[in-house]
Amino acid sequence: MGFLYVLIIAAFILSIWAQFRVKGTFNKWSKVESSTGMTGYDVARHMLDTNGLQDVPIEPVRGALSDHYDPIHRVVRLSEPVYYERSISAISVASHEVGHAIQHKEHYPMLVLRHKIFPVVNFASGIAPFLILGGIIFNALNLVGLGIIFFSVMVAFQLITLPVEFNASSRARDIIVQEGYIQRDEERGVGKVLNAAALTYVAAALISLLELVRYIAIFTSNRE
Ligand SMILES: [Zn+2]
Repeated sequence: MGFLYVLIIAAFILSIWAQFRVKGTFNKWSKVESSTGMTGYDVARHMLDTNGLQDVPIEPVRGALSDHYDPIHRVVRLSEPVYYERSISAISVASHEVGHAIQHKEHYPMLVLRHKIFPVVNFASGIAPFLILGGIIFNALNLVGLGIIFFSVMVAFQLITLPVEFNASSRARDIIVQEGYIQRDEERGVGKVLNAAALTYVAAALISLLELVRYIAIFTSNRE
């Protein structure tokens, strides 16, 4: 158990570091203007249109790094700096979000799966800690077991998120180079921005996975 706690703490430190790094990398490449002079909006609009997604609107939203693709309303939402600015960061993030819209259109299997389990995830992740904690306090192993099952749903969701995120980024990189939204020598910056973002998802999944191992360890040690 001691070693497991060390791993969990290490994963937390990795996660905090990843959060700082994604902000730092984004800010750094925000100052580097793209040679084509395209804004995040320009790139997103062009990418959507050339992929048969003319009906998907793009909206600016408040908040830093709040960019996302909304699969329910089929809208690409870009944070204001990404929407309006002509930087390597803006183009990177905008093209990544369009990558999700293209995944949706093509029924990318991992995305379909992610959407399928999403409705249960909020409920499952909300109730799991109470079941596990309650089970330990009242020494009710069945509750702990049930909590572990609910918690597993959340872990599965986070693990499925990883290929979805990596795939959106690799689609984005391919398209922006092919379409000439950036020059070849600017690809390094795009890679840095997208990789920094991906690491935050890896760290979050790692924390959840280790938490799950910890719960299972508690469960099995109590059963003996
Ligand atoms: Zn994403």
